[in-house]
Amino acid sequence: MEKDTLMEKIVSLCKRRGFIFQGSEIYGGLAGIYDYGPLGVELRHNIKQYFWQKFISGREDIYPISAAILMPERVWQASGHTELFTDPLVECKICHERVRADQSEAIEDHEKKHPKEKVEWSEPRVFNLLVGTKLGATEATATPVYLRGEITQGAQVNFKNILDSMHPKLPFGIGQIGKAFRNEITPRDFLFREREFEQMEIQYYVKPDEKESAKIFDEWKNMALAWYYGLGFKKESLRLREHEADERAHYAKAAWDIEYDMPDIGWKEAWGIHHRGDYDLKRHAEFSGVDMGYFDEETKERCVPFDIECSGGVDRAVLFTLMEAYTEDTMGDEVRAYLKLKPHIAPVLCAVSPLLKNKPELVEKAREMFAMLKKEFGRVAWDDNGNIGKRYRRQDEIGTPWCIVIDFDTLGENPEHKDTVTIRDRDTGKQERIHKDKLIEYIKGKISL
Ligand code: ATP
Repeated sequence: MEKDTLMEKIVSLCKRRGFIFQGSEIYGGLAGIYDYGPLGVELRHNIKQYFWQKFISGREDIYPISAAILMPERVWQASGHTELFTDPLVECKICHERVRADQSEAIEDHEKKHPKEKVEWSEPRVFNLLVGTKLGATEATATPVYLRGEITQGAQVNFKNILDSMHPKLPFGIGQIGKAFRNEITPRDFLFREREFEQMEIQYYVKPDEKESAKIFDEWKNMALAWYYGLGFKKESLRLREHEADERAHYAKAAWDIEYDMPDIGWKEAWGIHHRGDYDLKRHAEFSGVDMGYFDEETKERCVPFDIECSGGVDRAVLFTLMEAYTEDTMGDEVRAYLKLKPHIAPVLCAVSPLLKNKPELVEKAREMFAMLKKEFGRVAWDDNGNIGKRYRRQDEIGTPWCIVIDFDTLGENPEHKDTVTIRDRDTGKQERIHKDKLIEYIKGKISL
């Protein structure tokens, strides 16, 4: 029997343990659409928080916004998306299914559906990825609008609002996290290529100077890479790759990707760093008739800034983090699978248990400890199901860094250990006894490592 691939293991773990489910699953699901369960949404929240701290609240020069998902057609005409946001499609002449002509995996996967025949393909045809809808009371008066295909345009159309309300000086950035929608023809690889997904972005506006902007572009490449390493990736799992000339988006002066070496699949884009030049601001000035220039108070000069974009996929970060963290080893005589998640992103930071759940004095003490830790850290779970070994396996599988157990020694059965608890480390399985008053400090010290 063939062994499951890592992707199959992750998909199964995500469903079994409440991380991620197929969207509208009871109705057969929707391809490329996923719902996050209790643990997945915490993991995603922590990853977004880490982005927010590093690139927005941790800096003085980046202004956060939350732009709307629905935008008028004019925005997408100005940005070039109605015309150029396209993928080439080919149609299988046997079953008429359409797949991306530029994705050899999609072509090969499809050909496996017809093992006995030679698949012939139609000539490639262009297909627009924007998802449209209409707003308005009647068919006749309804206006076409689009669910944004990238969150970037939300920053571009608010550039002047930020200038007028916040009076920033160049260089400065606009940062946001939000949903984007693309009618991907071949959604695949779980969260990798979805039709509804989240992006986290910085549009960093700089003086329109080739040399200076190239320097700042390099800095953003390195900052984005460092951010990814902060999620716990091994050095060799990530790389920076420059786009070939024919891969570059229509607006890009320079484009690099941060790529992750997906096990069994290969190098795939995690984050794009694009030098968009003055393309977006100039196009919006032209299409809206509004001046998108910046006035420098010191030099008394006007300019249209260049935009360095750092655009990362939130769901891809979740998927890649799960793939990177998934570990199998042998502990004692048992083979176990666990998620080696860094404490700052783990959905549950620590789980608290009474050694036995039918001893009220243990439960009471454990509840006290649970309340104290919950108040301090929030991400704390109560776990009294099954025996201790089972609890450890379950917490290992969802990536909980520490399990804390209250036993009879805590209550003073061994006076030397009164008011101490055991704390077990997920990765080594080692247990330590520490005094309950030192717990918070102990955990805080480990999180900041
Ligand atoms: P790809 O070449 O993989 O289609 P892209 O170059 O079109 O991606 P961008 O437009 O640069 O992607 O979007 C920025 C980021 O948004 C990507 O780096 C990726 O992390 C994320 N992203 C883009 N498309 C999807 C998708 N369909 N599903 C999940 N995340 C996506």
